[in-house]
Amino acid sequence: MAKILVVEDEEGIGEVIELNFSLSGHKVTRFTSAEQAKSVYENGTADFDIAILDIMLPGMDGISLCEYIRKKDDSIGIIMLSAKSQEQDKVLSLSVGADDYVQKPFGVRELLARASALLRRIGKHDKPTVSDDVLTSGPFTLDLKSRILHKDNTRIDLTSVEFSIMELFFRNEGVAMVREKILEGVWGENYYGDIKIVDVNIRRLRMKIEDDPSNPQYIVTVWGYGYRWDVQ
Ligand code: CA
Repeated sequence: MAKILVVEDEEGIGEVIELNFSLSGHKVTRFTSAEQAKSVYENGTADFDIAILDIMLPGMDGISLCEYIRKKDDSIGIIMLSAKSQEQDKVLSLSVGADDYVQKPFGVRELLARASALLRRIGKHDKPTVSDDVLTSGPFTLDLKSRILHKDNTRIDLTSVEFSIMELFFRNEGVAMVREKILEGVWGENYYGDIKIVDVNIRRLRMKIEDDPSNPQYIVTVWGYGYRWDVQ
């Protein structure tokens, strides 16, 4: 059972999502505007594992809401719902912290599958036996139990996707990895999204972990190929 926030102004679509997620055993809180969802965060009662946000909303739009929620909660999984004509919005929403997007019109089964995959990634699904594993690489320490990254002694907050990328890098130190491998390793092999999602997340990670993000020394670009995690 996961706690799902749904923000969708089209009642019919919102109802279908709520019904199907409820039937799958999840607890759904549904709003028809970003402002309503925001007020739950403002009064401090927000407690969700996954947010499903429509991009086109009256008033505050889904992208602004995504950015707002991401600032409040590093660990929540965020799925955006976008129309076909909103190609730019997809990239934009990923850059402000969304983990995934589903294009309208979508089958509710697809949305359920995406949500399940995201729940597994953020560790809210059939919790595996908790290990005390701590991975270290150069000045970095990745605590798999608390899902926290430290650089020297400074804590760096990561989204669930960013954390998964770091874990993949830590386990493949010095290995050049193609984007497709990163996509598969982090989003799962049944993910059919855009490869650009990898680059967007790498850019965000560099802002967080590099001394000089414009001249990265840890996440190195392998031209025409992908990325390599480098620590001396
Ligand atoms: Ca809408």
